[in-house]
Order: sequence, then structure tokens, then C-alpha cells
Amino acid sequence: MTAPDQLIATTPVNDRVNLLGLTRQQLETFFIDLGEKRFRAQQVMKWIHHRGVRDFADMTDLSQSLRTRLDEIAEITPPAIAEQHDSQDGTRKWAIAVDGGSLVEAVLIPEGDRATLCVSSQVGCSLDCTFCSTGKQGFQRDLTAAEIIGQVWLAINSYDAWQSGKGRVVTNVVMMGMGEPLLNFDNVVSAMSLMCDDLAYGLSKRKVTLSTSGVVPNLDRLAEWADVSLAVSLHAPNDALRDQIVPINRKYPIERLLASAKAYLNAQTDKKRVVTIEYTLLAGVNDSVEQARELAALLKDYPCKINLIPFNDFPNSGYQRPSGNAVSRFWQVLTDAGFVVTVRTTRGDDIDAACGQLVGEVVDRTRRAERHRAGRGDQTLLESG
Ligand code: SAH
Ligand code: SF4
Repeated sequence: MTAPDQLIATTPVNDRVNLLGLTRQQLETFFIDLGEKRFRAQQVMKWIHHRGVRDFADMTDLSQSLRTRLDEIAEITPPAIAEQHDSQDGTRKWAIAVDGGSLVEAVLIPEGDRATLCVSSQVGCSLDCTFCSTGKQGFQRDLTAAEIIGQVWLAINSYDAWQSGKGRVVTNVVMMGMGEPLLNFDNVVSAMSLMCDDLAYGLSKRKVTLSTSGVVPNLDRLAEWADVSLAVSLHAPNDALRDQIVPINRKYPIERLLASAKAYLNAQTDKKRVVTIEYTLLAGVNDSVEQARELAALLKDYPCKINLIPFNDFPNSGYQRPSGNAVSRFWQVLTDAGFVVTVRTTRGDDIDAACGQLVGEVVDRTRRAERHRAGRGDQTLLESG
């Protein structure tokens, strides 16, 4: 996988460069510009991503003078952990403080010998899907490549499992946290390149998944830059409904989205790959048997598997999770039609581990505390916040 080679060029000369977010190619350019050999990049990447070392003084295979120079012009700075929560089922979740005081979240979900890290790509999101708590926050800013890959770094660091020999802390990454990854294209591509690079996290491209709600022009060019797995957030079997709940559909309707996702697959060398179709089930909105049949007809002969996600509720969402029976009926129609269908089990319920929930909870709690100090009641806060 390649990555856009723009970070170095846009980094002001006097600023310390954060080496955490630089791809192999970018780090090589950095060292060549310093008059150093290209292989310094490989040495430094191993220190950062294999051993979790942040202090240049500890990089013992670099000359003393290079270590001193790096100390002057560069840094290795992951974002800070604001809160860490452990669920009884082994799920671990972080609220991560990024520059500017905002919070994003990452969740690590262990399952047998796999552990999937759900990573955020933006602070908030501009796309405003009606059932998404991140969408309700609006968009604040893109995360940098360092802030995105920093979530992987922090997850491993939190277990103190650098080269521990205990097996990998993170075996899979899904870009399914806060934000729309295709609207932060360059930084997401750089971070995914590091996820797959043997000198960094060495994950197979099949084990890194980008999820999009359908930013079609950027999906059209993704294959030039990345070959990771693709998930498409469909959530409706027709444009009339999708226009309502996933507003970007009004710009790029279902037919264009599915065609673009198929073209992405076709550009890959591995011809056995399929698109994961994500479908969040909202009671009384998109969960009927008729809608399941319509979805089966829409996706007939389409190279996909389907992941049903029972809605995760949050305060004032206006939606409800369907009953277990409704989920089963929907699943049955699709399975009978020959699709491979999984239902996402909710993990980490006791720590609000579903999309956008922990940050929402931390923000609410902080605001409540502030209101309390200012002598105002919680009710006012909940109405206005
Ligand atoms: N922006 C990207 C990736 C982040 S959201 C996207 O939309 O694909 C990851 C997945 O969680 C998406 O399929 C999204 O629609 C779904 N999702 C968002 N809020 C949810 C909620 N409250 N309950 C269940 N699924 C939700
Ligand atoms: Fe953004 Fe995805 Fe949430 Fe839609 S579901 S608002 S695209 S984060």
C-alpha cells in the first residue's frame, strides 16, 4: 500500500515533526532530507511501533549526534488518554483527548484469539446520519495521521505488551469509530499504511477495514491508495428511506455507491474478496420482513456479506432497538436468500462501548458537573445539551 507523500511538505520548518504518523516513505524522505541514510527510517519505525519507545535517547542503534538532532526537531507524541474503562467481558474503551481539548474514542474488543480495535478518524462527523450520536455532535475536525495510528499505539501500550511474546494485543482494526474515514482521506490512508506495514503493526490488509457511509468520489479513488477490506453502511433497501436516515444518499444514491464499492473490489488482486454491507436495525424504520426481502433483491448477485447491527441507543436518539425476534426474522429472510449474514453482538454494554457513546457520556458528565458547580439542575442541561 502506498500513501500520499504530503505530510513532510506541509510541516512548518520550525515545528517539531511528530514521527508517529509518518509512513515508511515519508520517514525515509525525512531522514534523506536530514542527510541521513534511508535505513534510519526502518530503525526508528521499529523503535516507535514495535517497542513503543518515545524517547530518542533510548534508540541505541542511532548515533549520539543523530539522537540529539532528533530531540531538537522531532517528537513521538501519541494523543493522551482521558479515560480508560474495562468491561466485564474484556472490552476496553478509551476516551482520547486530542489537541484542542476534544475527545474521540477507541474500543478494543477481544473475541477468542482475535482482538479488534475500533478506531476514530474525525472529531465528530458532518454527515448527520439520523441514528448516530457522532453525527449529532456535528463536525469539529479531522484527526491527524498520528492521532489515528496513535490509537493503535495507545491500545498496545495500555497492556504494556510491546514485543511481549504474549501474542498480539490488536489483530484487526476497523475504521468504525467516530467520523467518516473517506472525508479524511490522506490521513486515513497514511494511518492504514502503517497498520499494514511490517515495520509498524504488520496487519494483513484483510484485517484492516474501512467503513464508509458512501462518499462516492473518494471511494472511487481509494483503490489507487489502499487495498484494505471495505464495509459500506447501507441501512436501507431503497433510496427513499436511505435519503431520510443517511443524508449523503441524496448526493450519491445506492446504485452509484454499490457500483463504486464493486469497482474497488474489482481493482484488488485478490478476487475472492467481498464488501461487508452494514445494516443498523432501527425498530419500525428499516427492520420489517418486507424490507429484508427488498434488501435481498437489491443485493442479489452482489459480492457481499451482510452485518446486521441492532441499534445502540443513546439519550434523545428518537430510535429504538428492535426486539430479538425482529432481528431473527430479518436475519432469516436474508439467510434463506443465500446471504452470509452476521449479527453484531453488543459488547461492553456496561461501559457504553457502542459507537460514540462513551464520549457522549463523558461530555454529559463533565457538563453536568459544571452545571452543578454553577448551581443549575441536571434537567436544564439535558434539555440544552
Ligand atoms: N462513518 C463511517 C464509520 C463510522 S460508523 C460509517 O458510517 O460507515 C460505524 C458503523 O456504526 C456504521 O455502519 C454506522 O452507521 C453504525 N452506527 C452508527 N451509530 C449507530 C448506532 N447508534 N447504533 C448502531 N450502529 C450505529
Ligand atoms: Fe458520520 Fe458514520 Fe455517524 Fe453517519 S454513521 S454520522 S457517516 S460517523
